[in-house]
Amino acid sequence: MPIANAFLTPEEFEKEFFYDMVVGYDKNTDAIGLVNKVPPEMMFHDHYAFFSSTSKGMQSHFAGTASRLLPFAGKGIVVEIGSNDGIMLSAWKNLGVRAIGVEPSKNVADMSRGLGHEVISEFTSARVADDILSRGKVSVVFGANVSCHIEDIVSYADFIAKLIGKEGVFVFEDPYFLDIVEKTSYDQVYDEHVWYFTVAFINKLFEPYGLYVFDAEHIPVHGGELRMFVGHKDKFQKRPEVAKWQAKETDLEGKLETLKANIQKSKQELVGLLEDLKKQGKKLCGFGASSKGVIVCNFCNIGPDLIPFITDNTPAKQGKFYPGVHIPILPQEKFTNENTDFAMLFAWNHLPEIQKYFSWFEKAGGKWITHVPNPRII
Ligand code: SAH
Repeated sequence: MPIANAFLTPEEFEKEFFYDMVVGYDKNTDAIGLVNKVPPEMMFHDHYAFFSSTSKGMQSHFAGTASRLLPFAGKGIVVEIGSNDGIMLSAWKNLGVRAIGVEPSKNVADMSRGLGHEVISEFTSARVADDILSRGKVSVVFGANVSCHIEDIVSYADFIAKLIGKEGVFVFEDPYFLDIVEKTSYDQVYDEHVWYFTVAFINKLFEPYGLYVFDAEHIPVHGGELRMFVGHKDKFQKRPEVAKWQAKETDLEGKLETLKANIQKSKQELVGLLEDLKKQGKKLCGFGASSKGVIVCNFCNIGPDLIPFITDNTPAKQGKFYPGVHIPILPQEKFTNENTDFAMLFAWNHLPEIQKYFSWFEKAGGKWITHVPNPRII
């Protein structure tokens, strides 16, 4: 697989980086994660291509999340790991809460600083924790779609434990392993997603600090995530919800085998469907040059012969090519009923938002294609 967010120009094709993407499972710790990892500096840098605020749906999600977490914030500081372009820092600011972002990708960190946010542009580390604690007491550490990115998860747990102590809470939301199995959403597996979380794994990870998962709630964003609340056993009582999820997390090895078989089936069905449409002379395009779609295209060998172009609203991706399969990325405005009969939805996790804003596409006879939970025309 190539690096999923490494959009490139034709001059860069020759020296493109590839690695063997393998998911492993460790019985002792219940860790499920990538066996071969890409160095973080190759993924998160001064030209990181993912901008959280491009999704209106996610803006309202984070505004709602900040309100939901407000009771935990109290008079303390909120720390946000992976604050990206400031989407959630803005939500805290609107609520009058002091929030500090930790964001190593310099381009997005600078964007959020431009909005007046307090951001440390570094990877999480003991030094960053000390720096934050020198600024005041931390009540909440929050991370959305970032904890699963952090390869050295043990140092990360140290970092979190140091920041929240016995009183604070750590709340995080990432793609949930059981959702990936249920939906065969194998495209959640890419270089940035080093870990596929379960309550079982998080409890084992935080046990040495006296911390545990005391609450969990399922959220619909990004194809199904589990938001977990971690705090000290002496302070936070475990809510019944947690046991409910734990009870579902049985036979993880068997679930991985099921996923493996379903992925092969999904590939055959998707390629079959696209090839049929091509034979019928239908015009195809890709919609949303997401990192997930990079995995779908590379795993299924879908190149420009099947999908001649993909449109996306992120300027940094436009005019470049999709990693690995080198499909050209065009601006969103190029998506029309004239050039597209069927649009393959690579940003399937934003389907409701996309269907709403692009309702004209379906009204004029256009159709969406998705591969989740199984390949089909919507
Ligand atoms: N929280 C946002 C962004 C998710 S993308 C959202 O949910 O939309 C992941 C972000 O985490 C990127 O901006 C990346 O630069 C950042 N990141 C990656 N590793 C990190 C680390 N070790 N510490 C802090 N941020 C990190």
